[in-house]
Amino acid sequence: MTFRTRFAPSPTGPLHLGHAYSALLAYDMALAQGGEFLLRIEDIDRSRARPEWEQQIYDDLEWLGLWWPEPVIRQSHRLGDYARALETSKLADYLYPCTCSRADIKSAISAPQEGVPQFGPDGQIYPGICRPSHEFSTKWNWDQHDTLRLNIAAIEIAPHRNGPEAQLMSFKETGRSPKGETGDITFALEQIIREAGDIVLRRKDMGTSYHLSVVLDDAAQGISHVVRGQDLFEATKIHVLLQRLLGLPTPVYHHHKLIRDGAGKRLAKRDDARALFKYRAEGYTSDDIRRIVGLPV
Ligand code: GLU
Repeated sequence: MTFRTRFAPSPTGPLHLGHAYSALLAYDMALAQGGEFLLRIEDIDRSRARPEWEQQIYDDLEWLGLWWPEPVIRQSHRLGDYARALETSKLADYLYPCTCSRADIKSAISAPQEGVPQFGPDGQIYPGICRPSHEFSTKWNWDQHDTLRLNIAAIEIAPHRNGPEAQLMSFKETGRSPKGETGDITFALEQIIREAGDIVLRRKDMGTSYHLSVVLDDAAQGISHVVRGQDLFEATKIHVLLQRLLGLPTPVYHHHKLIRDGAGKRLAKRDDARALFKYRAEGYTSDDIRRIVGLPV
């Protein structure tokens, strides 16, 4: 299999030093293995994606000295593929429509239990208000505008086998988790139930979700190594579960350190102090950026 990495930014704001680190690392890893580096534009959130941010992504990455094959896949062009995959795979057996607003969810969890996590990789953990009590999917009753959630507690990963080990999943980590784990990472479905809850796989406004589209795209593009920040380590477990249910291969994952500001805070798009275009305007070079983020020149 070709060693293939990708950089998959969302055009919802300026790229910053953290993005530069991620893109350069993925690029260097691909080059070192004689492989390929792909760029993918994750623009399913139509309310936040802007063409000017997308153009800036191309300009920033070219300035960093990266090269990628054309055409670049844009997720907004693949909505039909996501919808088909959701409705025709085994995933469909575990989906249910959800009509809750944020306020409904908030008021349902107004009395948190001690020791039970409230937030997961998708934000507030869904308290199960719309979760059906019966076993079977009502997929033929979905409305095309429904928000669909995954009934995680109902999932059987290996229905033909019994025992807790049948509900275990794993992936290979060549970087490190935020806790320093590396190598073979094994986790139980039970952990996702507790720490992520019933994630949304199709959002009403976008017809898909981050988790679903990223998993389908990585498989469609033959990505062998996913290079991403440690902030996505818990999301990766959801992705591995989705790969199992969709019958897709699990790539190797490389979770890398996060670039932080002087106060130790992770860089965010909304604070554009470390935005790449500013460095570019001030005459910094790609090598300067490599030095700043701690990559070899
Ligand atoms: N598009 C996502 C972002 O910009 C992450 C891509 C990934 O799954 O690695 O944060």
